[in-house]
Amino acid sequence: MKILVAVKRVADYNVKVRPRSDHTGPDLANVKMAINPFCEIAVEEAVRLREKGIATEVVAVSLGPQAAQEQIRTALALGADRGILVQTDVALEPLAIAKCLKAICDKEKPDLVLLGKQAIDGDNNQTGQMLGALTGYAQATFASRITVGTGSLEVIREVDAGLQTIAIKLPAIVTADLRLNEPRYASLPNIMKAKKKTIDTTTPDELGIDVTPRTRLLKATPPPDRKAGIKVEDVAQLVDKLKNEAKVIA
Ligand code: AMP
Repeated sequence: MKILVAVKRVADYNVKVRPRSDHTGPDLANVKMAINPFCEIAVEEAVRLREKGIATEVVAVSLGPQAAQEQIRTALALGADRGILVQTDVALEPLAIAKCLKAICDKEKPDLVLLGKQAIDGDNNQTGQMLGALTGYAQATFASRITVGTGSLEVIREVDAGLQTIAIKLPAIVTADLRLNEPRYASLPNIMKAKKKTIDTTTPDELGIDVTPRTRLLKATPPPDRKAGIKVEDVAQLVDKLKNEAKVIA
């Protein structure tokens, strides 16, 4: 079983990103960048399947600037076998990303494509679903457990009402939710080994994909500052305020 894992370069989740002063987008100058946390979970799942002998190869793919090589190297240090960078400085939209990933799928013919359920920068939650539509592969989103059968997967999905267990055929697209696993830390020897692993570089042009954006960001503004809270004297005062001021209880 060959697994393709899509890893996105995003601002580290510990960084509080602010919009640029002219409101044209997030200010990412000198910001620490990292693998999107949900993509890290996807890499961990792929590596575990390889360690169990279920997968034979794990290929990490990222689309973005030259610097996205760093996130592919992290995936390689976590255990992926090789990487592919689709290099472009265009700010990519989910459909463009899904089209490029489809072109990579046509070449690589993976049995399973693992993605994060969502990138924490754009919060789109679209790429996996779009890739499912473009490839015609079966898809399972928001996965919290994956069990591999013969030519099929059983996936437990996190849905609003609880958990949903579905069976899908391979090849398949699965997007990772938070509880799928707890990713490991890359060890120093594995970080060193990762430096010797191959990263092939291509471009959207070479893949024959037009990635011209279809939407224009008009304005980026920070969320309103939170108002300071108040301290109540006792439970009676709290209940009174909830009832008569906030009107959230009767
Ligand atoms: P999104 O639809 O933007 O919320 O992203 C969902 C998932 O699609 C991410 O967790 C990644 O697995 C994948 N993805 C999105 N953008 C990229 C990118 N530029 N490079 C690689 N994978 C990506």
